[in-house]
Amino acid sequence: MTFDIRDPSALSAADRAHLIHPFLPAAAPGRVVMTEGRGCRLRDATGRTYLDATAGMWLCQIGHGRPEPARAAQDQMTRLEYSTNFWDFACDRTVELAARLADLAPPGIDHVFFTTGGSEGVEAALRMARYVHHRRGEPDRTWFLSRLGGYHGVGYGSGSVSGFPDFAEGFGPMLPHVHHLAAPYPYRSGAAGPAEVTDACVRELEAAVARIGPHRIAAMIGEPVMALGGMVAPPDDYWPRVTQVLRRHGILLILDEVVTAFGRLGDWFAGRRTGARADIIVTSKGLTSGYFPLGAVLTSGAVAEVLGRDTGFPVGHTYNGHPVGCAVALANLDIIESEKLLGAADTTGAYLADALRPLEQLDVVGEVRRTGLMLGIELVADKTDRRPLPHGTYSVADAVRTETGVLVRGGPHALTLAPPLIMTRDEADEAAEALHTVLARLTPDGELR
Ligand code: PMP
Repeated sequence: MTFDIRDPSALSAADRAHLIHPFLPAAAPGRVVMTEGRGCRLRDATGRTYLDATAGMWLCQIGHGRPEPARAAQDQMTRLEYSTNFWDFACDRTVELAARLADLAPPGIDHVFFTTGGSEGVEAALRMARYVHHRRGEPDRTWFLSRLGGYHGVGYGSGSVSGFPDFAEGFGPMLPHVHHLAAPYPYRSGAAGPAEVTDACVRELEAAVARIGPHRIAAMIGEPVMALGGMVAPPDDYWPRVTQVLRRHGILLILDEVVTAFGRLGDWFAGRRTGARADIIVTSKGLTSGYFPLGAVLTSGAVAEVLGRDTGFPVGHTYNGHPVGCAVALANLDIIESEKLLGAADTTGAYLADALRPLEQLDVVGEVRRTGLMLGIELVADKTDRRPLPHGTYSVADAVRTETGVLVRGGPHALTLAPPLIMTRDEADEAAEALHTVLARLTPDGELR
């Protein structure tokens, strides 16, 4: 099919004819074909502009359309476009990024295994966990603990530990030896306060460990703050207490920091703030701000020591530590550092949360919550019994986009915002105003008046 790429209707028609979208019925009426981006703004093929309060898929920390990563990519491509990490090969740029990440990582985390994205990183982390126990002479440690409402990707391992049963329907059998715990979800837990939420979660964790058998569990995986689950932060004592239980039983902790790392929570890594002490940290998204597909799995020295024994860790990808990805990541980290964007996550986050807070006056808004620059607006059909809207919040996010040009993301219970870390106050006001305009018309059955 040949068509004029500048013709929006031809682009839409070609999209319908050839492109398989994740989570889109082919019969859906419209397509939004993006063509340009600058800062927090995107422009589609029809010329309409949008305010991107989702930073793409929660990743574009430095904003769209920056020349620095482009220059880094061009320099690297013209010098050495590809090199492998298999065996004793490496590339100078890849080694440089590994050392930089080891410097930024929480204490004790100092080794890096590169991937091309989050799912691949979680697959690698799960394999590392089982393999480390196997190598240490505990081959029965094959179970994984994770949480309902946690999202970890679409590989068979990462999809199995994810806590969204709907996403697994029709794909089974999934990976065995996975046990899902309840999420520490203060608004939906029914508990009296944060202390009770943690108590209940720790009791459940201890019971699961006792039932499965501590010597049969390889690792627990969790996001420091659940992103797809609705930007849900656990109570402050959740991670420290969970970490204690895991350590006591020799169970590894895999922190899925695909969304939270590289600034979203106001620090390079969330663990420093949440008190979680990970053995393995999975990252991606903010590592390159989406300018190149790259992920990094960081491990403790102890994990790396076992992986390095004998013939080494027998897992690798063609694109492990891609030189162009690593050059782009270094340029991205430079910008986050020199423009002090870690601090912006807290100041802009607080400003945006204050602007959104009055929404809590509406009958359909149960709560506005924020950690760093991750914000959730919990929508409810009934504030007293906290019943969710009947069909989730997806159509509300669509309406916000169509009516106001502001991009937010829908979810089962909450609208979510995670804008670029460079968002200005005017842009934050614009996003808040758009949400006020639309949510004021939302009825408890999920329709817009
Ligand atoms: N973990 C988390 C916490 C995520 O949010 C995502 C994707 N949104 C993934 C893993 C999977 O990453 P990817 O889509 O790059 O495979």
